[in-house]
Amino acid sequence: MVVLDAAHGGDDTGGRLTDGQLEKNFTLALSGRLRSLLAARGIQVVTTRDSDATVEPNRRAEIANHAQAQACLSLHASESGSGIHLFTSSLAPAQPARFAPWKTAQATWVTRSLALAGTLNSALLHTGMSVTLGRTTLPAIDSMTCPAVAIEITPEQSADHKTAAGLDDKNYQARVATALAAALVEWRMEAQQP
Ligand SMILES: [Zn+2]
Repeated sequence: MVVLDAAHGGDDTGGRLTDGQLEKNFTLALSGRLRSLLAARGIQVVTTRDSDATVEPNRRAEIANHAQAQACLSLHASESGSGIHLFTSSLAPAQPARFAPWKTAQATWVTRSLALAGTLNSALLHTGMSVTLGRTTLPAIDSMTCPAVAIEITPEQSADHKTAAGLDDKNYQARVATALAAALVEWRMEAQQP
C-alpha cells in the first residue's frame, strides 16, 4: 500500500511552472501517472486527492495514517533548482510512544523515511538523474505514521548548467514516474526480506 499525496490543490495553487502551468496541476497529473504504473506492478495506491480540491495538511496525514501505508510520497514541483529533491522530516528520531502526538508523529518513523529516501535516491541515480537530499519541516508529513518522503521535481540540467529537460517535457515526466515506481517495487522487496 502506497499513499500518493499530490501537493497543493484548489485555492492553494502552489508555484507557477513553465508556460504558466500551476504546480497543483502538475502534481495531480504525476500522481495519476504514478498510480497507473504502481497498479500495473500490483501495488495498491491511496491518493490524498483526485481532483483540483483543497486538502489541508492534517487531512492528508489522516488519509495516510488511516491507510497504514508502507510508503507515502508527497509530490511537488518547482522551476528553481535542478534534478530531483528528496526531503525527509527534520524531526529527530524518537522511540515509539503509546500515543504519538500529532505534528511530531513522524519522529518515530524518521529512520524508516530516511531509508525510503535512500531507496528512491538509488533508483533515480540509476536512471542518470541528479538527486539532492534534504531535511525540512513538512506540515503534512510531520503528522504521518508511515515512511514518508517529499519529492520535488525540478528541471533537469546538463553538465554545463543548461536546461536539458523542462518540467513540461513529457519524456522527462515519464522517466521520473518510472524511476519512482521502480523504487517502490524495490522498497516492497526490501520490506519483505526477513
Ligand atoms: Zn509544492
